[in-house]
Amino acid sequence: MLLHIGIDDTDSPNGMCTTYLGALLYRELSRLAEPMDLPRLIRLNPNIPYKTRGNGAVSMTFEVEEGLIPEIKNAVLFYVNQLADFTHENTNPGVVFLEGAIPEELREFSLRALREHVTIEEAERVAGKVGAEYFKFKLGRGIIGALASIGYPLERFTYELLAYRERENWGRPRRVDSESVFMADRWSYPFTYDNVDPYKKTVLITPHGKDPVLAGIRGVDAGKVLQTFEMVRFEEPVAFHQLYKTNQNTDDHLTPKKIGELKLYDSAVVRGRVAKPYWERGRHVFFELEDETGRIRVAAFEPTKKFRNYVRKLLPGDEIIAAGGVKEHEGVLTLNLEKFYPVKLVPKVEYQKPKCPRCGGTMKSKGDYLKCKRCGYRMPKKLIPVEVPRGLERKIYEVPPDARKHLSRPLVLPGGEERILGLL
Ligand code: ATP
Repeated sequence: MLLHIGIDDTDSPNGMCTTYLGALLYRELSRLAEPMDLPRLIRLNPNIPYKTRGNGAVSMTFEVEEGLIPEIKNAVLFYVNQLADFTHENTNPGVVFLEGAIPEELREFSLRALREHVTIEEAERVAGKVGAEYFKFKLGRGIIGALASIGYPLERFTYELLAYRERENWGRPRRVDSESVFMADRWSYPFTYDNVDPYKKTVLITPHGKDPVLAGIRGVDAGKVLQTFEMVRFEEPVAFHQLYKTNQNTDDHLTPKKIGELKLYDSAVVRGRVAKPYWERGRHVFFELEDETGRIRVAAFEPTKKFRNYVRKLLPGDEIIAAGGVKEHEGVLTLNLEKFYPVKLVPKVEYQKPKCPRCGGTMKSKGDYLKCKRCGYRMPKKLIPVEVPRGLERKIYEVPPDARKHLSRPLVLPGGEERILGLL
């Protein structure tokens, strides 16, 4: 009998991580039953406010002898009870069990949890319909992610190897030899990626919180991910590690939409025209995008760093394809930009002073006339319109790795352009 197990919302900013709990469970349960695949780390809607970090849920599937099912379920609930951080008000664990095949209705629910906002009641209704058993701890919001991670189709996937710390080191600075990370990256990039930020020369595999994760290595080739892990020199003990199959970096969250359809917490790709010149507030860059159905504010926030320079080059009338998540910023619905592609750019015209018709010298503005700096020739001020380069290419612009959403596909991977260019 197939038994699917989903877990979510066991962690808080003060500690724990659902993948840690999942990895421990996977090892433990593999003694009792046959795992059908690697455990799965499923990232759901990145825009919802309840998430701790990357809105990740964990699921795994075993072929289980029917008589052992109660023991396995008890083990899962025991681990969650023991390890979840119940002290934090925003930690509301959920555990879901489903036996047998995955019903179509559950797949649809998973994709909604990825792209939109869903409620606990909806999750309970779907669980009831598909015959899934669920356990709520506190508010039990975790059943949304737990159920969605079981039903997630995972047609496209990548890998992440997670290495965990010994308990006595939780909360202390992580000790990893950065030179070894750069070397491993040079060897395996782009089959593994996001190991380092080549511009800032920083290591990206180590998180910064109090959670048990020592490092995460991402890639599209499981063998290369494992070898990269072997090449990194850790300067503190690795308690254990686990390779996860994941929907990270698949762009699965992006759905083509019309601007008028965008709702709070959606993740979408839209095509529209820049409606007015960009403006800035607090180092964030904003503009407005419109299509025949509506208008939305678009933002490139400060952490997207140099990406903002390309956004600043956009002019009213430009037609672009934009991908991102819809959030509320200062009470206004705002598309938080992840990638954009200039489809059609309006000409940029600058008005320049002519050269002196008498001596070819440079003219200087003097009120409503121009005067040659060299020979003193004067003439009425008539400027010449000149088309200047836009400084934007016909390519996709993406935010830098440390500002990228877990789900967003880096352009260095095959298919990184698919969702955007699909709207051409
Ligand atoms: P970590 O990445 O470290 O595991 P996290 O960022 O995943 O932490 P969680 O603690 O899992 O954060 O909290 C996310 C919560 O949001 C969970 O309770 C989950 O069930 C719920 N959730 C997931 N997707 C949706 C959705 N589309 N709509 C509403 N709630 C959701």
